[in-house]
Amino acid sequence: MGSITSKFGGTSLASAAMIRQAVAIINRDPRRRFIVPSAPGKRTPDDKKITDLLLTWHAALKNDLDPGQPIAIITQRFSELAGELGVAIDIEKEIAEIGSEAKKYDTPDYLASRGEYLNARILAPLLGAKFVDPAGLILFDYEGRLDENTYEILGDALKGEGRFVVPGFYGSDPEGHIRTFSRGGSDVTGSVVSRASGSELYENWTDVSGIRMTDPRIVPNARRIDEITYGELRELAYMGASVIHDEAIFPVQRAGIPMNIRNTMQPDDPGTMILPERLPKQPVIGIAAKKGFTMINIEKTMMNREVGLARRALSILEEHRVSFEHMPTSIDSISLIIRDDELKQHGLSIVTAIDRVCEPDRVWLTPGISLIATVGEGMSHHIGVAARLTAALAEARVNLRVLDQGASETNIIIGVNEDDMETAVQAIYSAFENWK
Ligand code: ASP
Repeated sequence: MGSITSKFGGTSLASAAMIRQAVAIINRDPRRRFIVPSAPGKRTPDDKKITDLLLTWHAALKNDLDPGQPIAIITQRFSELAGELGVAIDIEKEIAEIGSEAKKYDTPDYLASRGEYLNARILAPLLGAKFVDPAGLILFDYEGRLDENTYEILGDALKGEGRFVVPGFYGSDPEGHIRTFSRGGSDVTGSVVSRASGSELYENWTDVSGIRMTDPRIVPNARRIDEITYGELRELAYMGASVIHDEAIFPVQRAGIPMNIRNTMQPDDPGTMILPERLPKQPVIGIAAKKGFTMINIEKTMMNREVGLARRALSILEEHRVSFEHMPTSIDSISLIIRDDELKQHGLSIVTAIDRVCEPDRVWLTPGISLIATVGEGMSHHIGVAARLTAALAEARVNLRVLDQGASETNIIIGVNEDDMETAVQAIYSAFENWK
């Protein structure tokens, strides 16, 4: 019998009732043997996440302020959880020990990790599972990157019968100090545990029934995606679709383990399956959009005949230490699309330098650009995708500022004015929702 790694997010474990629900889900399938919990999240929209309270505790220590308030709330929440679930653990004693250990740390990592630690300590006895502390098993190098030896060392600790609970979000550095992934990093632990344990599936239990074809704030009833590849998901995530931590993709993708995004509150929903590869049934799988870009447009007659112009323009970006996202070209023009938070205040200085060095007919800035990515591995075998997309935009009366299709043909990027973004996404969604 193969095994499954099941990771539960913070909202899925925010209260005793939710933890009971997670336990019921785990008990339904004996293959669910490797369990990775997050720290308790919000029970209501104005509630506090345990990790945020732990970070407040750290900030108070750093600033010589009294951390009494966050400590009291954290103690109360964990005591209530343990009490309601009938788990014998002395939370006050645990918190006192955490408090003295925390004084040894300058960075927030140790305190931030204790939400996952305590939640796993509560969950393990409920499941009759072995608690496995990832300190010393999930290893980071000095730069904070995951050490590849982790898979073997952690894999050894996960051998044997029965269930294992591994708290998410942290491991340790070469000195043995606790180190966390970036926020939302329990997803990464789940992925690492899946690979180290040789699981056949990585289940990621959260508060939504999978990934939607586009942002439901723009298209409220956007269809759920049944199957998507890791590659497609990365393209959508890069454009702002946030479903799982981006570092959680690589360990399972490389090991060829599929990931299933599931809803703890609707455990019968099949959710979304993320696969190493799939047979594309439809050309377009998802549409993601992001605001906050500026275009630098360079126009020069017969530009295509001029050797070195693009290099000179790009070297000016390099001198300003600014990177670009896309560079659509035509015979007489080049556009450089740059994120506003990357361009900062350098726009005018870059344009002035390009004017001097490249001597174009015209160079100018267009701020307020939104990029929309239309993604799908099926596009490369399908004729007429770009035509359908541009026709939909024309019908919705959206002015297309740029269009860029990479050689991989899994992604068409368009640029529109920020004010047109919602209309454009709705038009593209309608054009591809049911197109086979
Ligand atoms: N508890 C951590 C956070 O809030 C990690 C996680 O939940 O994935 O970021």
